[in-house]
Amino acid sequence: MKASLLILITGLLFGACQNEPGNGSKTEKDSIVMNTSNRPDPHSFTQEARVNHMGLNLKVDFDNKKIAGTAEYTVAANGADKLYLDIDEVKIDKVWWESPDGEKALAFSLSEKETFLGQALIIDLPKGSDKVYVKYETTEGAKALQWLDAQQTAGKKYPFLFTQSQAILARTWIPIQDGPGFRFSYTAIVEVPRGMMALMSASNPTSTVESGLYRFEMKQAVPAYLMAMSVGKLEFRPLGERTGIYAEAELIDKAAYEFAETETMLEAAEKIYGPYAWDRYDMIVLPPSFPFGGMENPRLTFVTPTILAGDRSLTALIAHELAHSWSGNLVTNATWNDFWLNEGFTVYFERRIMEEISDESYANMLALLGHQDLESEVHDLGKDSEDTHLKLHLEGRNPDDGMTDIAYEKGYFLLRLIEEHVGREPFDAFLKAYFKDNSFKTMTTESFLTLLKSKLISSEDYEVLRIDEWVYGAGIPDNCPKVVSDKFEIVESALNDFKSSGNAKAISSTNWTSHEWLHFIRHIDAEINLEKMTKLDNQFNFTHSGNAEIQAAWFEHTIEKGYTNADEAVEEFLIRVGRRKFLMPLYKSLLKADPTGGKANEIYAKARANYHAVSQESIDELLKK
Ligand SMILES: [Zn+2]
Repeated sequence: MKASLLILITGLLFGACQNEPGNGSKTEKDSIVMNTSNRPDPHSFTQEARVNHMGLNLKVDFDNKKIAGTAEYTVAANGADKLYLDIDEVKIDKVWWESPDGEKALAFSLSEKETFLGQALIIDLPKGSDKVYVKYETTEGAKALQWLDAQQTAGKKYPFLFTQSQAILARTWIPIQDGPGFRFSYTAIVEVPRGMMALMSASNPTSTVESGLYRFEMKQAVPAYLMAMSVGKLEFRPLGERTGIYAEAELIDKAAYEFAETETMLEAAEKIYGPYAWDRYDMIVLPPSFPFGGMENPRLTFVTPTILAGDRSLTALIAHELAHSWSGNLVTNATWNDFWLNEGFTVYFERRIMEEISDESYANMLALLGHQDLESEVHDLGKDSEDTHLKLHLEGRNPDDGMTDIAYEKGYFLLRLIEEHVGREPFDAFLKAYFKDNSFKTMTTESFLTLLKSKLISSEDYEVLRIDEWVYGAGIPDNCPKVVSDKFEIVESALNDFKSSGNAKAISSTNWTSHEWLHFIRHIDAEINLEKMTKLDNQFNFTHSGNAEIQAAWFEHTIEKGYTNADEAVEEFLIRVGRRKFLMPLYKSLLKADPTGGKANEIYAKARANYHAVSQESIDELLKK
């Protein structure tokens, strides 16, 4: 063991660890305190011994809302005699290895439980084998899992299950080395009720298997946050040679129409940054309680149904998740402190894909909306806040706290600044090599900056661009690229005309996309009184627009201005949709309109059960304040 990675075993500070070993394994009574400062990842208990491959054999039990089974780990000991896995609210039944004389129990222990992190499952490695087996089951505390009743699905006949492992929730459904820097391949056998389909971030079936028994393989090594599973009454529809969509039967036509450009996006992405490394790119449309817009689970992006706008106007989100196949899934942030390496690069790449399949003016609308998000995030966090640094300090905190627009948009604008400075061609050549040379590896902020200095820009340019200030400083540096959008200038002038004339019919909005509408609605201000809001709503029906982006932006104003015609729709939206990006601003608006929190709590009481734990935690926190 290296000195820097030593764990401290001490009886002084904490009480004895709890342990419920089964089948003859012995309990270690030492009190175990992990030396947090020496962990390779501040949010994982992982030490030297590493898992290279995992074989899962699981049963999904909807009646008892649990996943139970065994995990087989192929381990590289790296000189250590213990294996450390992360668990949180997982029940460990038994740990063993297969000796030449048959199954032999292995001693294991659990560390003290830590907030956010859960516990270390510490296993004595066997001499003479690199394989370890753990029998376990999930509990009610499995925050990654959302179990939906049939009533919460589109089909209303079968229940639904999906996982959300990022950032550190994989450990709530699999004992695992749960840090973005630890990669492994996996196989899985998953049993689900007959008639249902199981899918994972792996090779997937395209039809329902009679027996309910599904086999999966993920050959490429992935980190734990990309472990994913979804079980429901699902259908598959191919979109292109390498692309396809899974959804409930009720949504499959709509989804296939909405995402028809996916194969073109994949080709555009490859043209910019090189070959796609994951064989197939499929997507699954989840129920509306999914807490995010999308999750880049490899081979199977998870998508919110709130982007099914009917006009393909919100598919930049697909470009985003697809882009993660390079930035994030292929070259992965080493720890959650380097999250901007995943998200800033992905937003940059997303906008390049959209520029490729549409045009520059389209990509610039996205960039301008992104800049608005960035400004509002900096305003909310405080312009001097450390949380506005690109390089974060999330030690001792929930890494979910770092998942703000800073990583996404400040990261994007830094990359755009570099691109504008060096020129697109050299920048693309640099990034293409970056993805190729670092495939299936992790990247720290510091290694990236070293690469940047050695391969793309001179030390003088590094200073001129004030890159350290961007990465290690607060707020938005004043050399942030300025984005101009002719399309948005037209929107602004239409809005100004309406402010003075009050004539909603005169707004010429033919060919406006969701982005123009979003820009328009975001700029509604004090000059637009209730009478003008009524006119807008009568003309454009924002309150009942099928477009969730438009509704969510509009509802912020209806709540704050007391436009009560929309109250019912607001409540219906908040109960049906669990996407945190929409929930947070709407609950904030409810609090602004009624600081006692009465209305917000009244709606939340009805809505909470429909939200995934990720969203519940954020709203709990917001309403507690
Ligand atoms: Zn992303």
